[in-house]
Amino acid sequence: MSGLVVDTQACIGCRKCVRACGGTAGIVVENRKARVTATCTMCGTCVGVCPVGALSIEKDEGAGSQDLSSYRDIWVFAQVDGDVVAPVTFELLGKARELAAQRARCGSPCDVVALLPCGPLASSPVCGDGEGSGAAALVAGGADAVIRCRDELLAAPDARRMASWVCELARSRRPEIVLFGATGFGRELAPMVAAELRTGLTADCTVLAIDETTGMLQQTRPAFGGNLMATIVCPGHRPQMATVRPGVMAAAVPDPTRPGTVEDVALPAGSPVRAAEALEVLRRIPRDDAASITDAERLVVVGRGIGSKKALPLMRRLCELLGAGLGCSRPLVESGWLEYRHQVGQTGVSVSPKLLISVGVSGAIQHLAGIGGAQTVIAINTDPDAPIFGVSQYSVVGDCNEVVRELVSQLEAERD
Ligand SMILES: Cc1cc2nc3c(=O)[nH]c(=O)nc-3n(C[C@H](O)[C@H](O)[C@H](O)COP(=O)(O)OP(=O)(O)OC[C@H]3O[C@@H](n4cnc5c(N)ncnc54)[C@H](O)[C@@H]3O)c2cc1C
Repeated sequence: MSGLVVDTQACIGCRKCVRACGGTAGIVVENRKARVTATCTMCGTCVGVCPVGALSIEKDEGAGSQDLSSYRDIWVFAQVDGDVVAPVTFELLGKARELAAQRARCGSPCDVVALLPCGPLASSPVCGDGEGSGAAALVAGGADAVIRCRDELLAAPDARRMASWVCELARSRRPEIVLFGATGFGRELAPMVAAELRTGLTADCTVLAIDETTGMLQQTRPAFGGNLMATIVCPGHRPQMATVRPGVMAAAVPDPTRPGTVEDVALPAGSPVRAAEALEVLRRIPRDDAASITDAERLVVVGRGIGSKKALPLMRRLCELLGAGLGCSRPLVESGWLEYRHQVGQTGVSVSPKLLISVGVSGAIQHLAGIGGAQTVIAINTDPDAPIFGVSQYSVVGDCNEVVRELVSQLEAERD
């Protein structure tokens, strides 16, 4: 096991390490001896300041010399939201199938396996068997096998319990790749799993592919404020792990005739993951589902071109008439015109509506990062050279307030 190690014989309890560690409290001094805590990130700062050489970082030889050939399948963590498997799971399965096909081409065939944690049978239809169950949907969506754990302790979205379950399974079954949705829950869970398994994790990938020469997972995501795309690989550790935001990848068309196995496993009694020791859940605030624009089929996305907050009622009226959700660019959130949950883009949400009407949005690269999944884009902008027109199928050059006002009056007339 790798980690920061204290030679307690040599330690003189001088606290220089504690000061060097700063706010993270990765090391404390108790009874005149240093002790490493769960928040240690192994950055090594304290090692350099110890005057008696009592601190060292031990590298896990096992990790560096992992037998990489013993790792095989592609796992997708199936997030269960209430009574349904979250849509991002099916998007990941669609991508996992493509990755499996690529691995097969480079001589490393593998299965796509979905991990389905759920409460006991009675608590959710997702946990049941047969048609309409979560397991059946996962197989239809691309899984060759489903590993399911039905346990009361997994009924609630407790990332610590889930992480402990995933880690136990990963240690014994050795997946080559593990994919998580970059949902609020996935963002909590995936780093815990990666830290516990001492492997890498690339968050918010927009492209995943297999390097057909090395067989490695190429994990591409925007970097440096979206100004370049970085492709990241994890050459020395397994599993290779990535998160992908909802709406970025395309789900496969479900095929209810696909064959697949379902294996029920018990929740191990094992200890929680180490990262969880540093975490205390104070309160759970339920998600405001009504406000989620991630799954909207129609969206009106407004930008600074609408001029002022006073234009928002007109935009909301358009949403109402179209049955659309309301999204926005980042400056509107920064100006306090709309809440963060409406923000579309690299640091907001990714959306994949059938129809997106972009109103007074320039189309900066960070904004475009969130709308790549939209099927049809209609853009309204006064500037004929606005980058948004580079991704729109229909381009309206003109004042957006005037255009929307006209659109609203025509839609209202149609209703009457
Ligand atoms: C690290 C980082 C992350 C970021 N993340 C995000 C993100 O997640 N989402 C995001 O949106 N941005 C993000 N940004 C900001 C992004 O770079 C842009 O600044 C932002 O998207 C611009 O918003 P906008 O198009 O509304 O405003 P502007 O760039 O000001 O564009 C306004 C547009 O409206 C047009 N216009 C003006 N008047 C009218 C009119 N009357 N009628 C029609 N059109 C008109 C103009 O021609 C212009 O094209 C991020 C930036 C950084 C550095």
